[in-house]
Amino acid sequence: MTTRPHARPDRPQRTRTRRQLAGAISAALVACMAVAGVADSASAQVPGTATRWSSLMYHSLTPTPQYVRTRKVLAAQRAALVVQGRRVASARTVQGSALAAVTTAVSLDAYARTRYAVAREDLASARNRLVVVSQQRPSSAVAVARAKNVVTASAKSVVLRRTQAHSAAAALRTAQVSSRTATVNLDRVTAAWQRTSAAIRTNQRRLIALDHSAEYAAQAAAISRSVVTDIQARFTTADTTTVNGITVHKSVAFAFRRMLADAKTGGIVLSGGGYRTKQQQIELRKINGCPDVWTAPPSSCRVPTAIPGTSLHEFGLAIDITSGGSTITRDSDAFRWLSAHAARYGFVNLPSEAWHWSITGA
Ligand SMILES: [Zn+2]
Repeated sequence: MTTRPHARPDRPQRTRTRRQLAGAISAALVACMAVAGVADSASAQVPGTATRWSSLMYHSLTPTPQYVRTRKVLAAQRAALVVQGRRVASARTVQGSALAAVTTAVSLDAYARTRYAVAREDLASARNRLVVVSQQRPSSAVAVARAKNVVTASAKSVVLRRTQAHSAAAALRTAQVSSRTATVNLDRVTAAWQRTSAAIRTNQRRLIALDHSAEYAAQAAAISRSVVTDIQARFTTADTTTVNGITVHKSVAFAFRRMLADAKTGGIVLSGGGYRTKQQQIELRKINGCPDVWTAPPSSCRVPTAIPGTSLHEFGLAIDITSGGSTITRDSDAFRWLSAHAARYGFVNLPSEAWHWSITGA
């Protein structure tokens, strides 16, 4: 990240967003110092770069009220979308059934019409037959009576088939109305679902635009080496504080505390050792079997151990992480969590030591 808005106040071509970012950093500096614990009189020596690193990390890890609001709205919209999705599915089922009912009703209607038509033809034939039988000479009373019975039966059948045809037609109309209602309802709930989806997409874009955490973290990372140099030049033990029992430099306390809290939320309990005095570093060089205290490279020790005066532990800027009482390794869940998330809190791993995390990775 090369853009450092607050560091170049004389650049007129800067965008409005960048000016706002710079403004936000200055405005919240006091709040940040209070949060990070760097504002008390004992640490007046904390250099400006360290204060700026704290401020950048504070802003990286503290969403704006607008961001929080938008995220809340988005969560509500996502919940609404789930409900609306269920409504669409249910409306689609109802519409599918309604369409099937129309198909069935169309068949039944056609069948009833056919039977009604057949009955009318039968009645016409029976009447013709009665006329023929009645005109036959010599007349047969038995044949006429039989033909009359057929006419009576056929007339009854026509009445029955007509009633059935009317019922089938009414059922078809009802099914068609239901189907239209189901289609209208499906269109309505689908439109509501689409509106919510569009609103979610808009808010997702808005949320991304409102999220400057990566930018702030990158700016902090870009100055972390200067922070180390400046702190080394004027360090006193008054510049340290404890976070969950771990002593660290006040300028990294806020970010470190947040990292421990968020890891815990993610099911990873982190602990460890941060600050150690130069004398403790000297003792460590002896314990770790370094060929000598002051010149042999760290890698020549049984456990890699920095030359006294050069370890970031001596300034509370490095922490050896433990989890569940053990120093973490590359196979630890804690290491995996840190690899995925620590950069967000300004911490980088020293590749040769899975447990060692600092603001520069040194
Ligand atoms: Zn270490």
